[in-house]
Amino acid sequence: SEPPLTIREILLRAEAEASAIRAPGKSPLTYRQLLRHADDVASRLRGMGISRNDKVAIVLPNGPEMAVAFLASTMCGTAAPLNPAYRREEFDFYLNDLQARLLIVDGDSTGPAAEAAAARGMPIVRVTCGTQKTAGLLISADLDAVLQQNSANGISSADTALVLHTSGTTSRPKIVPLSHRNLVASAGHIAASLALRPDDVCLNIMPLFHIHGLIAAVLSSLYAGASVSCTPGFNALRFIALLKSEDPTWYTAVPTMHQAIVERAARQSAGALKSRLRFVRSSSASLPPSVLTELETTLGCTVIEAYGMTEAAHQMTSNPLTKAERRPGTVGRPAGPMVRIVDAAGNFLPPCTEGEIVISGPNVTSGYENNPVANAAAFFDDGGTNARWFRTGDLGRFDQDGYLTVTGRIKEIINRGGEKISPREVDEVLLLADGVAQAVTFGYPHPKLGEEVSAAVVLALGSKTTAETIRSFAADRLAAFKVPRKIIIVEEVPKGATGKVQRIGLAALLGMG
Ligand code: ATP
Ligand code: MG
Repeated sequence: SEPPLTIREILLRAEAEASAIRAPGKSPLTYRQLLRHADDVASRLRGMGISRNDKVAIVLPNGPEMAVAFLASTMCGTAAPLNPAYRREEFDFYLNDLQARLLIVDGDSTGPAAEAAAARGMPIVRVTCGTQKTAGLLISADLDAVLQQNSANGISSADTALVLHTSGTTSRPKIVPLSHRNLVASAGHIAASLALRPDDVCLNIMPLFHIHGLIAAVLSSLYAGASVSCTPGFNALRFIALLKSEDPTWYTAVPTMHQAIVERAARQSAGALKSRLRFVRSSSASLPPSVLTELETTLGCTVIEAYGMTEAAHQMTSNPLTKAERRPGTVGRPAGPMVRIVDAAGNFLPPCTEGEIVISGPNVTSGYENNPVANAAAFFDDGGTNARWFRTGDLGRFDQDGYLTVTGRIKEIINRGGEKISPREVDEVLLLADGVAQAVTFGYPHPKLGEEVSAAVVLALGSKTTAETIRSFAADRLAAFKVPRKIIIVEEVPKGATGKVQRIGLAALLGMG
């Protein structure tokens, strides 16, 4: 059959009586119920003035209601999910930056999102989360009329379905608009690379205000006609319980979650946890091979790493599903868009050469919103490939077999008097030192060199090692210019809003510049 063009067409295509969205302790929504339900919400939003490309800010707790609100918003306008943990100032910033037209918020919430929306005179839709017996959101009276109205609602594949801000790891968060075409393509790429089937059940533990959970867990499942269990969010103890009660066949998460699962399981029992998991997927940050190995032992299934970013509607590359073919330490092979490596001038580089990772494909955003400067820097046209390429800002190299290794981010490279230093390379050496649990290398201002190397280190529980011991360990294994001049022992490494380590700005945070 023809590939779907819009998110609504994804829902229309599946077996109507199959389970689509479920949640722990609730009865599931079939595809038929989900479609009616999302159509109902969409028509109410339309009744409140939302039309194509109008942004609907969604501030809801993780769960099935959030998934339905996302789908419904894409069917009449543009979904703009925001992190419910934001404070008033952050909501003021994001609602204004997005020029959001309406806010969907949890019924009990009198919190900062509603205050910020009220201050802007935005209409607010209050819904009730968590109390219904089914995975639904709002219930409608006249469904058939709504359905007819929606089939002619004029939403097309070029319309913006979703806007998200980037994580802000390397600069101020940028607004990324993603069209129906972008999202449907990405969901299809992920469903294909994971060989998802209608009988698969995904356990979603990722937040639904980021691209990873929305597309890799929810939309790819729906694309495959499979089902997704929308949990309240991540907690390692609860995860182990849900592995039994929800009986998932796979899940996708970030490395810190996998790590927490490994640690929790080790405390609970020896040997692998019993489950029906076919595989586990990891993305959004690099997965240390040691965590991959431990997770495979803990869960007794293959762990595959993928590479994603907001601007690509998530997935760019993925490892193959079989243990024989997946390669720990790599992010696998292109799995959706075309992926190449370029030098600073934009020339394509051969395998085994490091350079900037660039992508081109139907899943890639057409450009940041209201940001011509960033767009001019990020996109370039190439006559030879006849394609428009997007610069990811990430560094990497392909091996001879087409597997990609992500080696760092361009903006995080430390420039020490003209010598370029990869902070990840230094991290990896520090992690080998006795008693080092975490290491984050970064640059700090230096009057003569421009930048000098430093590292923040978290010690393993009970370790009595010193900064000087770690430093001399590094000095034995790294060229002198790469050895951190200062090693700072910290309780915890400061992280950005999405839990990523922010090397840029770390010097300032630690009072070094
Ligand atoms: P900003 O663009 O605002 O600086 P960000 O890049 O962290 O923030 P996201 O879109 O959430 O925002 O993250 C995408 C980035 O995450 C990628 O560009 C890459 O640097 C990193 N990443 C994702 N998956 C992997 C992976 N498997 N291995 C290594 N890095 C990864
Ligand atoms: Mg980025």
